[in-house]
Amino acid sequence: MLETLKTLGLQKNQLIKDIRTATPKDGFRGLPSIDINADENWQECMSVCPTGALKVADGEASIDLGKCTLCGECARYCKNDGIKFSKFHKLGAVNREDLIVNGELNPIKCKEEIKKFFGKSLKLRQVSAGGCNSCEMELNACSNANFDMGRYGVDFVASPRHADGVVITGPVTKNMAKALEDTYFACAEPRIVIVVGACAISGGVFQDSEEIDRSFFERHKPDLYIPGCPAHPLTIINAILDFIGAK
Ligand code: SF4
Repeated sequence: MLETLKTLGLQKNQLIKDIRTATPKDGFRGLPSIDINADENWQECMSVCPTGALKVADGEASIDLGKCTLCGECARYCKNDGIKFSKFHKLGAVNREDLIVNGELNPIKCKEEIKKFFGKSLKLRQVSAGGCNSCEMELNACSNANFDMGRYGVDFVASPRHADGVVITGPVTKNMAKALEDTYFACAEPRIVIVVGACAISGGVFQDSEEIDRSFFERHKPDLYIPGCPAHPLTIINAILDFIGAK
């Protein structure tokens, strides 16, 4: 008992009181911006990007957060600060095209019907469709003592029968394609689809692999995109809360 109290005293209260205003620690790479006028060798800069997320051409520049692994390689390669990553972590979007950014991101607007159905309670089934376990670990962290996503009525459940939708991680390997489809249809209607991480959104570094089967997304459009590699718990929770219209 004494030991337990001692440990609690050392750890103090680990709960992040306000998820909405909390920020990731220093070193976090968030929303990028590109200065097209900076004196950089943009062709070579683009060539170091492992996913083709960076595009600089015809006087326009953007990074596709749906593909970007936030590895920072492009910024390291720039000699004159042509690319910078801010600490801004609220990177979720409801439209795929909104993830193609240069310094700004459209905030998520909650739809009334989504708020009506899921505003107070959202149960999700996670499907790791060939993920490396990084996004899965961060999703797990969302429910731990620090982030405690459950306080907002958002929880992961063991069975898709109890779920309002699926959270997909990984590029969707051929071996997981049917299991993903089955899980989706096992959820109650109206079911939602949330994709977490560059792999799930675009295939990420596996986008050209013959071992993936992303036809699921041709049949079922994601309702919410949450970028990262892996996505940060604060990014994940804030995107979900914005999506369901929670305070
Ligand atoms: S940070 Fe993103 S855009 Fe830059 S090299 Fe890495 S994946 Fe490409």
